[in-house]
Amino acid sequence: MTVDIVTIFPAMIEQPLAAGVLGRAIERGTLDVKVRDLRAFTTDRHRVVDDVPYGGGPGMVLKPEPIFRALDAIAAERGTPLTVIMTSPQGRRFTQAEAERLSGLAHLVLLCGRYEGFDERIRERVTDELSIGDYVLTGGELPALVVLDAVARLMPGVVGDEQSVAQDTFTNRGLLNHPQYTRPPEIDALRVPEVLMSGNHAEIRKWRKREALSRTLARRPDLLDAANLDEEEEQLLRELKGASDERD
Ligand code: SAH
Repeated sequence: MTVDIVTIFPAMIEQPLAAGVLGRAIERGTLDVKVRDLRAFTTDRHRVVDDVPYGGGPGMVLKPEPIFRALDAIAAERGTPLTVIMTSPQGRRFTQAEAERLSGLAHLVLLCGRYEGFDERIRERVTDELSIGDYVLTGGELPALVVLDAVARLMPGVVGDEQSVAQDTFTNRGLLNHPQYTRPPEIDALRVPEVLMSGNHAEIRKWRKREALSRTLARRPDLLDAANLDEEEEQLLRELKGASDERD
């Protein structure tokens, strides 16, 4: 996958991408990320990317020309049509399902906003407008990294063990992950559940299913409506719901 990220703060993108799983994927060439400095697409001496809003009001607005020029340059280099994602608190909510959809694409462009955001006409050149949550950040660099990270780890060969991706929260049939433990078996009187050390794989599997279900029921019951449960899980869920009804 190739990804172009347009920003006025290239270092905010480049440095986080140097480390960890994404860093290795870029090194190996599985992932090709180009960070485009928006100021490189200005034509004036002061390399101005923003201007005051028409109609007045506080703050500055990102000008359309540098962004249009950046998109033209990327299109010329990569070939059209482009999938252009605008990061924006007004966008559609970014979810795991959205990450899965985007991970199937060969090429993505991510636009990082700043100040009061983008001149409205920039939306004409955008295919998707994505929000990473209902809060407002100072810029689109962190959202672009969030989107890229979630999308890239779904690509074959990026995360070493494909099983680990398949079993994640949200991916594992729409349930939260079961709790995980590692050594030592006991610390400060806190013990690892006996079943996990029993070597009984059938019991471990069932324990994990029950824990994933009870966690989802307690923390994110909304996810259960869309979850894709097998018969054993349906039965476990009925038991868990019965137990919580009794407590009420
Ligand atoms: N005035 C704008 C907010 C601008 S915030 C408005 O009310 O819609 C500045 C930039 O930060 C945005 O252009 C966008 O790129 C980014 N940003 C802020 N919050 C975001 C969020 N929740 N999701 C994605 N991008 C966000």
